[in-house]
Amino acid sequence: MNLSIDTHSFQAQLLGLRTTLLAQISEQRGGVLSRAEVAADHFSNVQDSHAQTTTQRDLEFALNERETAELEAIDAALQRLEVGTYGVCADCSEPITKARLLATPEVTRCIACQEKSEHLSH
Ligand SMILES: [Zn+2]
Repeated sequence: MNLSIDTHSFQAQLLGLRTTLLAQISEQRGGVLSRAEVAADHFSNVQDSHAQTTTQRDLEFALNERETAELEAIDAALQRLEVGTYGVCADCSEPITKARLLATPEVTRCIACQEKSEHLSH
């Protein structure tokens, strides 16, 4: 290992993030249920209920998808910690700076590669 990072502290941080995220997701699922109950009260308003339902579903889907992606990123980071490839850029194989890892422990790319990939996707 040529990386001078404290894998144990990153592992603890990632596990903490994972727990927080899972709690958020389950809280949100609960929120979805109560919002559905609230929506049932306005069932008589048929005319624009379709548009509202679609928007709300899209929003919930987007939130879930983002959280799922974040959860996957955290799991992948934990896996990299286990196999010893944590903190290495997935694109250029250069070490990711410790400051960047501390700010976002689940990142897979160094700043340069992240900027490059964001440029490409816009
Ligand atoms: Zn890179």
